[in-house]
Amino acid sequence: MATELPGCHRYLNRIAPTPLVPVQLDAGRPAVWCKLEFLNPSGSTKDRIARFILEKAWRRGLVACGGRVVEASSGSTSIALALACAQMGLKFLAVMPEGVSNERVFIIRAYGGDVTFTPAALGIRGAIAEVERLGAEPGVFLPKQFANLDNAEAHRLGTAREVLDQIPGGRVDAVVSGVGTGGTLVGLFEGLRENGCRVVPVLARPVNLVSAPEVECCSFSARIPGVADSISEIFRPERVPGLLTVEVRDEDAIATTRELIRLGFPVGPSSGLNYCAALEALRQLNDPHAQVVTVFPDRMERYFTTELFKPFV
Ligand code: PMP
Repeated sequence: MATELPGCHRYLNRIAPTPLVPVQLDAGRPAVWCKLEFLNPSGSTKDRIARFILEKAWRRGLVACGGRVVEASSGSTSIALALACAQMGLKFLAVMPEGVSNERVFIIRAYGGDVTFTPAALGIRGAIAEVERLGAEPGVFLPKQFANLDNAEAHRLGTAREVLDQIPGGRVDAVVSGVGTGGTLVGLFEGLRENGCRVVPVLARPVNLVSAPEVECCSFSARIPGVADSISEIFRPERVPGLLTVEVRDEDAIATTRELIRLGFPVGPSSGLNYCAALEALRQLNDPHAQVVTVFPDRMERYFTTELFKPFV
């Protein structure tokens, strides 16, 4: 089995630690500790899981140079995998529902990946089914971000430990995130708790989730890409005991994202969602010394053709 990972001395070693900074929108509102995940090399927190999952697969002999990696993702994870694969000498194919913003498709192709589309009406499940079909072919590795427990592990062993090193006193009272696969929230929560934090897990949930009747148990946010009512095997209630759900209006999430951009954080809509929910968590904790942590998952450039940038066109 290969021990020396290709790409190790380039892209893979530049992932994280990302800064953790207190962000205050104005003097009237408290500060939230925000992990600047958009500063990872491909522009999102998904670089962490791409690296973690591919490294593990490499060490187990499940992927080798020239091998093919296939993933169902409408964005950040595919972008991260495309870059990691380019660096590791692997081929990458992203399978995604029709209708995702073109920016994402262009970025994946620029990193040397291929993209194939499944019908929009089938949502992410349609893409997952197509990946399963391709996965039966020899030499294909499926990272399966929705089922792969290493997704949360990357955050438990990486993101959470960084937060503990970075936050004053190593104390976190609540950790807030929207959920796609649930890897970020579950991994951060478990990593903080096992290191002694009495931390409340907080789910940032957009109120306007759209259900797709063709696809059982799946609703997603049409206006905050990357966030859904989870169909994930990672995001299970028993892994987040005491979960507090905070509902956020799409309008508020998007307006807050624009405020964050003006403050110098070039982020996408889920950062605004997370920030709004973190402010509400702070309000509910009702403790002026409470330290609440959230993540800014990805960069604004992925959303140029979406509602976020409408006022600036
Ligand atoms: N991608 C983006 C752009 C997001 O905003 C979010 C939610 N914060 C996610 C993904 C979800 O992360 P996870 O899959 O770890 O739940």
